[in-house]
Amino acid sequence: MALIKFDRMKELMDIPRTAETLLNNPEKEIKFSLNLKMNNEEIICFDAFVVYHNVVLGPAKGGIRFSPYVSFGEVRTFAEIMTYKNALMGLPFGGGKSGIKFDPYKMNDFTRIAIIKEYVHMIKEELNSGAYIPAPDLGSSPQDMSIIYGETHRPETVTGKPVIIGGLPGRLQATGRGVSHAAKLGIENILKKDIKKTDVIVQGFGNVGRWTAYFLHQMGARITGLYDIGGIIYNKKGLDIEKLFKYAPTSKDSIKGFPESESISAEQFFSLETDVLIPAAVENVITRDTASAIKAKLIVEGANDPTTAEGEEILLKNGIHVLPDFFANSGGVVASYFEWRNAKSGNQTCEKEVFELIDKKIDTVFWQGMEARKRLKASLRESFFSISLGTLIEAMKARLWI
Ligand code: NAD
Repeated sequence: MALIKFDRMKELMDIPRTAETLLNNPEKEIKFSLNLKMNNEEIICFDAFVVYHNVVLGPAKGGIRFSPYVSFGEVRTFAEIMTYKNALMGLPFGGGKSGIKFDPYKMNDFTRIAIIKEYVHMIKEELNSGAYIPAPDLGSSPQDMSIIYGETHRPETVTGKPVIIGGLPGRLQATGRGVSHAAKLGIENILKKDIKKTDVIVQGFGNVGRWTAYFLHQMGARITGLYDIGGIIYNKKGLDIEKLFKYAPTSKDSIKGFPESESISAEQFFSLETDVLIPAAVENVITRDTASAIKAKLIVEGANDPTTAEGEEILLKNGIHVLPDFFANSGGVVASYFEWRNAKSGNQTCEKEVFELIDKKIDTVFWQGMEARKRLKASLRESFFSISLGTLIEAMKARLWI
């Protein structure tokens, strides 16, 4: 994602210099090391990061990423995205994010649990005070959130927990639910197409990718291409998503070799004839190089930060619409808000109600974005940013921060 270009946004709206200064500077950054003594000969150390970008609207909320590539810079960017996402969706949260640098797919359970317990130990003040509230992100799962809960003993300190221990029914599917609903709105109202006559390709078959594909498939769209870290598959008649759920049951399992498909290259995937492309895996995949090959007419950002600034410039020049991450993938944090609220109040919400709440929020904000786009004659990303910025500026004024 191209993060806010303030010079451009100032052409569209009034932004006090003081607000720009605050939003350009993360409020709090913590870097620490998780050190595990394995035996007398061996100690292993993992870098860990927590960033609060801006907490004017409430405690820092954002997922925890487990990846061998995660860096301080990346966590900073994701925390910033969370500030604009929470503000856009009208949630009482600031922008936060954390990361631990290790490969979750190569770690045994014993070490993984020890790493997470050490993470809680190192930031227990942040967690117990409710200042930072983690949730699953790339590489982390509901089970990992249950370990955090097991250490803090307070259900409101972490969201995305398994349902059986106070998680929210529907939280697992929530991000994909929101992405698929955003895609549906984009298909019907921007592309003006019937969803049943729409081809979609999805990068990522983890939590976000699989549920996005599942819901769109249920709505009647044809999912023709899927791409994960192990392989890329294509079937022009449409892939059977329910069979794929059995073939690759978890984020760790690859779709590679799925029988009713042909294997294609990354170059072929991005240049497929399709209506919609949904990046739902990692960041920086729509770049100067990939963007010019893309034939999709609508991009719905399921992943955080999948499009570089240069990539987006090319897409817009080619008339391709982009529903940005901080709108399109907000279903997860919307559900997390209900989980957090229920943990505090003792209330319970069923899955059907959770999906309705997500759809309704996405609907409302989609039309606010469309109205802003018409009024400002701006891109979709700029239009949604204008809504987030308006809320953040108002809140900073209310708190006499600016
Ligand atoms: P996940 O770990 O469940 O799945 C990741 C998927 O991406 C897997 O299919 C994996 O094979 C694939 N992948 C990993 N590296 C890849 C690569 N280099 N090339 C192609 N595919 C690759 O993660 P997730 O929770 O689905 O998160 C995916 C994206 O969605 C991330 O950007 C994350 O920040 C964002 N997101 C997640 C949530 C959530 O609730 N989980 C919420 C909002 C945004």
